[in-house]
Amino acid sequence: MLTLDQHPSGRHFLQIPGPSPVPDRILRAMSLPTIDHRGPEFGQLGLKVLAGIQQVFKTKHPVAIYPASGTGAWEAALANTMSPGDTVLMYEGGQFATLWQKMAQRLGLQPEFLALPGTCAVTGLPLSWRHGVQAGLVEERLRADAGHQIKAVCVVHNETSTGVTSDIAAVRRAIDAAHHPALLMVDTISGLASADYRHDEWGVDVAISGSQKGLMLPPGISFNALSPRALDASRTAKLPRSFWAWDEIVEMNRGGYWPYTPSTNLLYGLHESLEMLLGEGLDAVFARHQRWAAGVRAGVAAWGLAIQCADAAVHSPVLTGVVTPPGVDADAVRKLIHQRFDLSLGTGLGKVRGRMFRIGHLGDSNDLTLLATLAGCEMGLKLAGLKLAGSGVQAAMDHFAGHPA
Ligand SMILES: *Cc1c(COP(=O)(O)O)cnc(C)c1O
Repeated sequence: MLTLDQHPSGRHFLQIPGPSPVPDRILRAMSLPTIDHRGPEFGQLGLKVLAGIQQVFKTKHPVAIYPASGTGAWEAALANTMSPGDTVLMYEGGQFATLWQKMAQRLGLQPEFLALPGTCAVTGLPLSWRHGVQAGLVEERLRADAGHQIKAVCVVHNETSTGVTSDIAAVRRAIDAAHHPALLMVDTISGLASADYRHDEWGVDVAISGSQKGLMLPPGISFNALSPRALDASRTAKLPRSFWAWDEIVEMNRGGYWPYTPSTNLLYGLHESLEMLLGEGLDAVFARHQRWAAGVRAGVAAWGLAIQCADAAVHSPVLTGVVTPPGVDADAVRKLIHQRFDLSLGTGLGKVRGRMFRIGHLGDSNDLTLLATLAGCEMGLKLAGLKLAGSGVQAAMDHFAGHPA
């Protein structure tokens, strides 16, 4: 067990899919003195970060920022728009969708959990955890709901437990094709600022995000991007809310302020993050993540191991899930890699616990960081007794060298 005065030498490799490594620029920006959150300087900061985050969500409508983790913003989305006993259609793509569904239950809603049935013949893993949201299933269910009991469709954009993204525009088309009035809610906690996300164009009513993934900030603030329909729904929805209530936040945000003390230093960090992301250009940010993801997948393929995402069209640019062969405890491999090489990887969550680990390739990274990450994985897999088909590090080097940024 490490104590604080036995810090390992060199840099820790934080390759979990969030929190992601925080750039020095952001850490420095956050070290500025905390200011009066009712003073004139603060209003300037507030207006700037609110305008910037709208650009990242690609929306012209309000974005609420909470001093809370992503889970708080999940609750805010439901509490502002739903009434006790409302039916919500949620899609089971992995563990985060499952946790959101549990939250809906605890809030007194009636979640219906839709999934692709069956398990994968090769890996034994649930099929719904290897594929993106099936818009066809959503459409079919909504068409059957002639009385419009379903008040919201809730999907996860980038399922961080599996490394599968979903086609949000297709879910919107499914809702429209069924002529159904349900609100569309999207968890893009790990998608935003790493994977393409378009709030207004895709017709999303509430999007939820967090600070510690693509935005490269420490954990602690989270977001709800709204639509005019979501704001309308919040005026009549009956679930109790106070801290999360959009009305006061949206009102105070007009001047760049919040109804309560915001996370001032995290907002300094957000300001810096927005400068970095918008300065680089979102398309370049997305392309950078796609390229890293392809290099990491080339590595996993060379090892001869399966990737959790079974559909090449929806591989996550944020993380890659590596499935270990049956009988090999993926979590023991992950722990061994952490112990030996000071490299943190994501554990298998929920239904895939022990069957896979996750390599994060998001935020502040580069080719050599990812090659070192793959080297740590490759050494650890061999130490755990796996016979690998080939060198993933070599394959990733070839990929990165052959595909200049
Ligand atoms: C990280 C994450 C969450 C949970 O966010 P917290 O900040 O840990 O509360 C929810 N959904 C997804 C998709 C995530 O990646």
